[in-house]
Amino acid sequence: MIKKIALFLVLVVVAVVAVIAFRTFSNTPQTPDIAAVTVPEIDSMAAARRLAEAVRIKTVSTGLDNPVAAPEFDKLHALIDLSFPLVATKLKRETISDHSLLYTWEGTDSSQPPVLLLAHMDVVPVERGTEADWTYDAFSGTIEDGIIWGRGTLDDKQSVFAILEAAELQLAAGFTPKRTLYFAFGHDEEIGGGNGAQKIAELLKSRGIRPAFTLDEGMVIVQGIMPGIDAPIAFIALAEKGYLTLQLTASTKGGHSSIPPRKTAIGKIARAVNRLEENRFPASLQSPAADMFSTLAPHMPLPLKAIISNRWLFDPILISELGKGGATNAMVRTTTAATIIDGGTKDNVLPATAIATLNFRLLPGTSVQEAVDRVKTVIDDPDITIEIKQQNEPSRVSSKDVEGYRVIETTIREIFPDVLISPGLMLAGSDSKHYEDIAENSYRFIPMRFGPDDLSRVHGTNERIYIENYAEIIQFYRQLMENIGG
Ligand SMILES: [Zn+2]
Repeated sequence: MIKKIALFLVLVVVAVVAVIAFRTFSNTPQTPDIAAVTVPEIDSMAAARRLAEAVRIKTVSTGLDNPVAAPEFDKLHALIDLSFPLVATKLKRETISDHSLLYTWEGTDSSQPPVLLLAHMDVVPVERGTEADWTYDAFSGTIEDGIIWGRGTLDDKQSVFAILEAAELQLAAGFTPKRTLYFAFGHDEEIGGGNGAQKIAELLKSRGIRPAFTLDEGMVIVQGIMPGIDAPIAFIALAEKGYLTLQLTASTKGGHSSIPPRKTAIGKIARAVNRLEENRFPASLQSPAADMFSTLAPHMPLPLKAIISNRWLFDPILISELGKGGATNAMVRTTTAATIIDGGTKDNVLPATAIATLNFRLLPGTSVQEAVDRVKTVIDDPDITIEIKQQNEPSRVSSKDVEGYRVIETTIREIFPDVLISPGLMLAGSDSKHYEDIAENSYRFIPMRFGPDDLSRVHGTNERIYIENYAEIIQFYRQLMENIGG
């Protein structure tokens, strides 16, 4: 009997190992056969100068309570007209909420749904105290050693200008798109897009316009960031996480600190924050993060490849390992970050209230309401009130099995033959969310080449872009216009 059980166990182990090995080694890269295209010459130095000029205009979004930099937007609009004369004369331009721009490039075939290219013209301010850390002033638009320096060269004036450069080139070449192309450039993305993108989306909706897809900022081409993969990887984000800021207020009786109660307001708020950190949101590997791992698995070194190719067995280990990293953790769960704490003014006075602000980034599929309910349950303290300060539901997950995704993928292969392509999840937010009502699929990708230290330049110090890469971005949009509109 024991012999039989032992034999049975051996057979089970052999079978499991065989399945793991089969699934691992049959998981080979699937790269469609798309050849690189020859692209027309462009004057990249002249394009770089136009972008540098845009960087010098301070279209800074400072906060919801502050007025936008109105004269600066007027200057930027004038620069755009001056820089792109064919766009200015041949495309219809509408101004929305005084500062956002909507371009319409009428197609010849109205039976085809249009495509909407998105970008934003505002930038974040330079954090006070870091001005001197910049190699060149943040708004100098310096061009040096093949690099354009300054705020907005990665987020997101490079995209506004590259789209317009591409359109200008296409117009000069006599191109007319079959399907209508829209370019929507918001002016307040960095403070939520409520007056820009949201209003443009409402206008398009009122006209009954239903784009086949939208393409916006989001993810990029990264190299040297994904463990075990040396090749550059272009991530096309299929979704963006939701955004939720909660203010927790603990209220107790104030008074003199010589006769304190058993639980102070500060103690209560500290306990609440601690409970939230100790009880993280549950982790799960869902689309699009799951699509990303399955797409890249064939390119990964053996142990990782075996684990990801056999999720039926290794999922608990995989998810737990992903939960240990920073960015990988953010891909598998709704994250919790305590960002502001406030309470008390004097060393011998008990504050009546203590306040903590927490910022959550919601995984697609987790609603704001579900997150708030969970926070309440975890804190489990009737003396703490919870107030929603800011909220955006996570986006839908767009399909990677439709024409929109495929045309972006094809364009990347044509312009960047050396890169791998994968779906991805955008951890930050974009204007795309405002267009969910009118476009079923939204993709978030700009072919900027990022190394390990480039992500910190976005919203950070020494934002800059290589002219060579900027020219590639222009070529990408130009080819995309050919592919979707030709
Ligand atoms: Zn941006």
